[in-house]
Amino acid sequence: MSEENGAGSGDELLGTVAIVGFPNVGKSTLVNRLTESRAAVVHETPGVTRDRKELVCEWNGKRFLLIDTGGVDIAGTDPITRSIAEQAKAAVAEADLVLFLTDARAGITPGDEELAQILRAAHKPVVLVANKIDDPDQDALAFEFHRLGLGDPFPLSAAHGHGTGDLLDSIVARLPGRGRPAVTDAAIRVAILGRPNVGKSSLLNALLGEERVIVSDQPGTTRDAIDTVFRRGEREFVFIDTAGLRRKRRQRQGIEYYSELRALAAAERADVALVLVDSSEGVVDHDLTVADVARKAQCSTIAVLSKWDLSEVEIEDVRARLSERLRQRPPVLTVSAKTGRGIARLLDRIETQFDKHSARIPTAELNRFLAELREARESPARNGRRLNLLYGTQVHARPPRFRFFVNDPAQRPPAQPALRHAGARQAAALPLLRQRPELGYTRLWLLGREPASRPLRAAGRARRD
Ligand code: GDP
Ligand code: GDP
Repeated sequence: MSEENGAGSGDELLGTVAIVGFPNVGKSTLVNRLTESRAAVVHETPGVTRDRKELVCEWNGKRFLLIDTGGVDIAGTDPITRSIAEQAKAAVAEADLVLFLTDARAGITPGDEELAQILRAAHKPVVLVANKIDDPDQDALAFEFHRLGLGDPFPLSAAHGHGTGDLLDSIVARLPGRGRPAVTDAAIRVAILGRPNVGKSSLLNALLGEERVIVSDQPGTTRDAIDTVFRRGEREFVFIDTAGLRRKRRQRQGIEYYSELRALAAAERADVALVLVDSSEGVVDHDLTVADVARKAQCSTIAVLSKWDLSEVEIEDVRARLSERLRQRPPVLTVSAKTGRGIARLLDRIETQFDKHSARIPTAELNRFLAELREARESPARNGRRLNLLYGTQVHARPPRFRFFVNDPAQRPPAQPALRHAGARQAAALPLLRQRPELGYTRLWLLGREPASRPLRAAGRARRD
């Protein structure tokens, strides 16, 4: 969330690289090393990283897109491993270059041979990597992989970094040099939040209109936060997928705990948060906790009633319950990932919420508006004194924050919480705000100084400086 809006980097990506390989060969570890981030969860359990991730890598000022598809298990009969294989094939189809990772310590597995066959048939440039060669003296372990018929294998230690420079040189040299432009700052960043099984992965799939994230009845399929870029018309969306927030504190251990931190981090990177509520179950307390994560992260929130085809609830009841319990009083939309109902409407709504969230109001316009306000109605008196807003200026975007200068900083403003959410509730001191939704006041913060991370509690602390 930056103050600069729509600057756009203009940086071209050299191309798209798909990383494929069986579970446990070290894909997540390599992704982490190449992106120098903690974006992928590394864990001993095979197949933890199942979902598709798209990440931007940079090497010597050159950037490319890395797609991580999760493990491939062609022989697997389990529906999950089948869909992983499908995803890998799809990734290979859209990649300019395939990074095929193997485990040099394990040697060539029958699965490696099968995958190699698919890759040879795809006629895509392949960089074959023999991973887990932690000691450069052991580089000869890579030789065996020549047998896969995919050129010279790169000896690598994803864990320790040995060989990564050579690998990146080779990737960059072999990319076509054109590709999708990098995500700009004008992209709408959306976090999909909700407890496990509420339908997050299904919703993402429905939004994308293709099988990009694996859906399964097993809990915990979605353990990573994944950024997926999606374009609709002129607008670019970045979906920041998140793990379900765990219900009980004592369950927050190991990977689940890490995932929850990621969920919070995702909300913090997002402009708009979709807080999912399972309409086959109605609103539960945990949904409110999730909504609070979105609020604290200063996201513009949309409550999404998922599984509307199974609904047992009335939307008006849910609306009333949410607006009573949630401070941000989010709009409530219904969707069914299964039938596709409400999906287009949700995307429209994300766009309008984002436009409000990223609104910039020129100082002159804001002050014309304040003047109108003063003329239209005298501000309410408290203890015989009136609080007047003298002038204001927008000090922050995404979310918008304004600094108002008042005649009497010592005076507590009336209906202070309403002021912060003007437009949602009667704002006694600013009666017209409610009628000017087009100005995009999603929040109104009374501040006398530079914006703090949270609003000052009262204008009494605001100064006329
Ligand atoms: P993925 O399932 O392919 O994503 O594999 P992970 O990245 O989760 O790695 C599986 C296991 O291999 C983890 O325990 C990693 O710590 C380990 N590993 C990954 N790369 C290396 C490496 O270069 N050397 C060694 N010794 N272990 C590695
Ligand atoms: P997540 O854990 O929040 O990502 O939830 P999933 O997307 O994996 O969904 C959990 C379960 O709900 C799966 O069995 C889905 O098939 C089911 N589900 C998700 N969305 C819908 C929907 O719109 N309608 C119906 N009937 N089932 C759904």
